[in-house]
Amino acid sequence: MLNLVLFGPPGAGKGTQSALLIDKYNLVHLSTGDIFRYNMKEGTELGKLAKSYIEKGALVPDEVTIGMLEAEVNSNTEAKGFVFDGFPRTNAQAEALDAFLSSKGTSISAMLALEVAEQELVTRLLERGKSSGRADDQNPEIIKNRIQVYENETAILKDYYAAQNKFVGVKGIGSIESITNSLCKVIDALV
Ligand code: ADP
Repeated sequence: MLNLVLFGPPGAGKGTQSALLIDKYNLVHLSTGDIFRYNMKEGTELGKLAKSYIEKGALVPDEVTIGMLEAEVNSNTEAKGFVFDGFPRTNAQAEALDAFLSSKGTSISAMLALEVAEQELVTRLLERGKSSGRADDQNPEIIKNRIQVYENETAILKDYYAAQNKFVGVKGIGSIESITNSLCKVIDALV
């Protein structure tokens, strides 16, 4: 299996690049943000719970997120591999993912980290907020909070995957196509 963690701060372009990569490599896209938003739209219990955290720019608790992610992997029995987008975001999530994949006889192939400077992130998120309808993209305070949470809890996962020799940084500035090409170069060297 080819299992990729597509990593980076809010606004780095994970969703855009994921969509292109799953097509090219025939993988399943699992975006925890998308799954939460779908549940919020449908008004499920999970959606109601997630909403209270997402609207503040905080993380949804680990046990909720991990359980949801594992259920999604389990329901894709035919998958040739996954692009994990927005997961893991904490050390506990990364450890849970390793244990879970290992119980299924597979593992993470690489973490591809999109690198974008903070000022560019804020600009991109506010721009996306104009059309996405995402409340968390429209408020500079919430955006600041999300970037802060990323710095405090999530960025450290680069070390987690570097320790397993699985971390690859990729410049996340430039045209969408040039960034896809950089990612594909890394992936082609893996497969
Ligand atoms: P972003 O553009 O900020 O990366 P996402 O769509 O990935 O946005 O996630 C939106 C929100 O969903 C996050 O700010 C967070 O509240 C919640 N969320 C997404 N993934 C996770 C996760 N792995 N753990 C906890 N909360 C998450």
